[in-house]
Amino acid sequence: MSVRRRVYFLISLVVLCLLLCKAPSAFAKETDPVSEAAAAEPPLNRRIELFGSGEIDWPCGVPFEDPGFAAFDSDGQDRSGDVWIEGSPVVWRAGDYTILYFFSENDGQLAAARRLVHVVPQSLPETVTPPKGTICLTFDDGPCENTPALLDTLAKYNVKACFFIVANRSSYLDILPRIVSEGHTLGIHCNDHSSYDYLYKNETRYFTDLLTAQKAVHERTGIYAHVVRFPGGSRTASFLAATMEGGYGELYGLLADMGMRAYDWNVQPESDYRDTAGTLAHFTNPKRPYEYSVVLQHDTRYYSVAAVEKMICWALEKGYTFAALDETFPDIHFQE
Ligand SMILES: [Zn+2]
Repeated sequence: MSVRRRVYFLISLVVLCLLLCKAPSAFAKETDPVSEAAAAEPPLNRRIELFGSGEIDWPCGVPFEDPGFAAFDSDGQDRSGDVWIEGSPVVWRAGDYTILYFFSENDGQLAAARRLVHVVPQSLPETVTPPKGTICLTFDDGPCENTPALLDTLAKYNVKACFFIVANRSSYLDILPRIVSEGHTLGIHCNDHSSYDYLYKNETRYFTDLLTAQKAVHERTGIYAHVVRFPGGSRTASFLAATMEGGYGELYGLLADMGMRAYDWNVQPESDYRDTAGTLAHFTNPKRPYEYSVVLQHDTRYYSVAAVEKMICWALEKGYTFAALDETFPDIHFQE
């Protein structure tokens, strides 16, 4: 054997020995598929579980409440408190919205989940023209300390009215269930009545205020309001919505998708002198036709509330009928 052949033989021998040394572990892996799978796919418990469906319908105009979620890391530990959310449905605009949920483990790995929300427009009933001589009493800006006595007066004559409330009058909101149970309509004026420039500043500001009030109504009565009276009336609201930030001059269309109608008034009896006699005199003005009247008063004005009993007696004697304004009434878009 030549020297070169001897070298080749020794090298081959070494290579063969090395292969034989490695062989046992290779064969061992092939005989343990579970270990092999575990080595190839490390356990992945990291996840976000969405409660409810990953795709839901949500009624337009109803404040959104997420159905919830639970998050777990790779060790199976609850990490729900570390989840952050991106995106939320704009519930005053019908459409499709995506909500993303994330949390990050210490190794920087993200877990994510996605929910699709269809904000579905609500339907409104057809309007019905009320019989001639119908009077709708409406009271803005309450509830307040005058509201219980006003309700007593209305109950005495079985007259139903509509209350457009200011929802941040929180110390008086316990009376809302009584308003509903006695057959009156609960409507929304706003949550914060302090400034028109603030309230109507942009679309988000206005509708967030409205939905805050809606939530307060629902929490205390279990119902959602379907009638709205714009603070300042529809002329003020429409003008400001069209000219303020973003120019959102489509209030009525958005409200309709939310299942709501806005109402102005065509009788405003409250006296410039802020007295009961003047309020009563204006209401009982014999020239008034009263084919269909929506009367604006404020339960926050005692002198005005004090005129209500005589107003009711006068109207009943004249053959007029009272009705609680609701979303089935024709729109009133002008002021006296
Ligand atoms: Zn007001």
